[in-house]
Amino acid sequence: MLHERLSSIYDNVLRRNPGEIEFHQAVREVLESIGPVLGKHPEYAESKIIERICEPERQIIFRVPWEDDQGEVHINRGFRVEFNSALGPYKGGLRFHPSVYLGIVKFLGFEQIFKNGLTGLPIGGGKGGSDFDPKGRSDREVMRFCQSFMTELYRHIGEYTDVPAGDIGVGQREVGYLFGQYKRITNRYESGVITGKGLSYGGAQVRTEATGYGCAFFVDEMLKARGTSFDGRRVVVSGSGNVAVYAIEKVQQLGGVVVACSDSSGYVLDEKGIDLDLLKQVKQVERHRLGVYAERRGEGAAFVSGQSLWEVPCEVAMPSATQNEITGRDAELLVRNGCVAVGEGANMPTTPEGIRVFQEAGVSFGPGKAANAGGVATSALEMQQNASRDSWTFEFSEQRLQTIMRDIHGRCLQSADEYGLPGNYVAGANIDGFKRVADAMLSLGLI
Ligand code: NDP
Repeated sequence: MLHERLSSIYDNVLRRNPGEIEFHQAVREVLESIGPVLGKHPEYAESKIIERICEPERQIIFRVPWEDDQGEVHINRGFRVEFNSALGPYKGGLRFHPSVYLGIVKFLGFEQIFKNGLTGLPIGGGKGGSDFDPKGRSDREVMRFCQSFMTELYRHIGEYTDVPAGDIGVGQREVGYLFGQYKRITNRYESGVITGKGLSYGGAQVRTEATGYGCAFFVDEMLKARGTSFDGRRVVVSGSGNVAVYAIEKVQQLGGVVVACSDSSGYVLDEKGIDLDLLKQVKQVERHRLGVYAERRGEGAAFVSGQSLWEVPCEVAMPSATQNEITGRDAELLVRNGCVAVGEGANMPTTPEGIRVFQEAGVSFGPGKAANAGGVATSALEMQQNASRDSWTFEFSEQRLQTIMRDIHGRCLQSADEYGLPGNYVAGANIDGFKRVADAMLSLGLI
């Protein structure tokens, strides 16, 4: 239920952004959490902070023409939504996936504002991408696309302005091509203009692993708060991309047994525990579909398509693929099968009904804004190293990440407690992130 004033703000968001359903969902979730904050802080309403936060500072849409290996010309659409720069330069990844349209970019950019606030680091919120599908494209085609994309994007970004990174479909290969083109056009070796770079040209240790590792650290904290740990627990992780692979790696190091993971073609069930080397070989090196993992793994592993991954019984679930992948029904099934903790590696992977089911059942539910913030936090550390021409060791960087995730966990619980919602990580994350941004906006005047 929305507070009366928030309800009219939400109606306005629906009216001004027709058809952008993912953006509506992301706004509603935040508005549902911050009602109690407005009671204590009338100054936010007086300065129309919420109305301002819901309106991006700038939205850029552009044409991306490119040529495939056969010489055929393709036209894609590029986006960058620079949502809020009260805390620092816009910061957030680029997504290349055929489903990308303005509503997806805005939902991701909006979430990013609060997530970045929650990290306590000086970064604003933004997001971008394209409806380009890198699947099945050669390296050369991906390179030509990235070069064309950057040929427009370069004029909008910069280390003090807007700093993109990766997301779905944008990994180190794409970041390399994008940075290469930026460097060529601007004649500047401006390392801090993009994060997620390779180690040989300004990347930071642990950035590749950070989102997945960070999510595992966050879930570890939630389990500790319940008086337990990962040790010997059955875990299911959706996806098999960047976030999922490193979530699996860290969960295994913490003693959990990951029995299933997925991609868009189906899921693999491997009761002995996922063989991570094989998974990396199949998905990252050879870029195959997940069925190939099951074929090579042999007995004990099965590939299942056309069914929900969430039917696999587990004690911990880590949705790490895409938005709205856990429905209310999936959540009910997970609860019935004994799930006690959910950590969102992906952005908004649980529907509002799913979240309600988990919270009513007493499942520890870590929303993406908090649980996957390790990626952007480590990106901010990459910017810090770039600015000081320094590079830290893997061990030191991982330690920093773990401390950041522990702090975020603590801040979520503390804010939830302060507003009378103990144990509610969703409310805690939204309130803490919102207050940081709102306070900065108040101080900066009418911007
Ligand atoms: P990747 O492209 O590396 O991997 C995405 C994975 O999810 C793949 O296994 C992909 O399967 C699967 N997937 C994507 N879309 C769908 C879909 N519509 N249905 C089913 N499966 C799908 O992306 P990331 O791992 O980087 O990102 C995963 C999630 O984590 C996203 O929500 C992203 O926003 C979020 N995130 C990522 C961060 C990062 O640092 N990379 C930081 C914070 C959040 P397939 O290969 O078959 O397409």
